[in-house]
Amino acid sequence: MTTTLTLLGTAGGPTPKMSRSAPAQAINIDGQVFVIDCGNGVARQYTRAGLDFDHLAGVFITHHHSDHNADYGNLLMLAWGANLDHEVSTYGPPPLTSMTREFLSMNRVDIETRIADEGRPPLEPLISPREITEPGIVHQSDTVTVTAALVNHPPFEVALAYRFDTADRSIVISGDTAESSALIELAQGADILVHEVLYEPALDWILQRTNGTALKKHLLDSHTTVDRVGKIAHAANIKTLVLSHFVPTDAGITDETWKKEASKGFNGKVIVGSDFMTL
Ligand SMILES: [Zn+2]
Repeated sequence: MTTTLTLLGTAGGPTPKMSRSAPAQAINIDGQVFVIDCGNGVARQYTRAGLDFDHLAGVFITHHHSDHNADYGNLLMLAWGANLDHEVSTYGPPPLTSMTREFLSMNRVDIETRIADEGRPPLEPLISPREITEPGIVHQSDTVTVTAALVNHPPFEVALAYRFDTADRSIVISGDTAESSALIELAQGADILVHEVLYEPALDWILQRTNGTALKKHLLDSHTTVDRVGKIAHAANIKTLVLSHFVPTDAGITDETWKKEASKGFNGKVIVGSDFMTL
């Protein structure tokens, strides 16, 4: 068995960026592809990564900030446009079920037209949303066990990290989180931890915005500064720490700076993630 992780998008925040696409990851287990988070552009990033929509096996949303879910429905609808004809389970915090229903309703003209005109199967029965409100195993098959933890991303009541255990690897996706003991517990001994990062010294430009004070407070209360992620990876006994969800993106912070800060307190491997990197 071979399990690979591809970073489909490594920016953080709702504004589209020049150098990185919005948060998304693909875990490919012998041709079964699971997508974790669906930032804007995820369907195109999926294609550009060489992944096949026929192989889409499941979609996991960590939380309902738009940089993580803006293209949740689009990924499924466009995969269907590309000939998806099998059921795909989707997972995430409430209200995932009503979001799915309302997305299909919003796009009913295209969907009904393609069913009638192009002979496609109905899309709605192919999407099976499952809302997660508790930590624990959320998906289990012969090839993979997926476990969720409730992380610390206020003001959300439910923000999730996911751990994928396969025969050859264990991969954890932090989602967005401030320092979280639940994440350290979930990630214990994993081969790879993909963790969000925030570089505090580069945040003051935000204060020029009309909502700058509130936004800076949100960022510091709800995310993890890069100089702390090494300690988290060390506490979780991670082999490889992969940095993603860079805040700020496009602010001239070098890979060397991200890596140096993230290496504090951690002896394992640190990788500065980039779009389409496959590990
Ligand atoms: Zn968030």
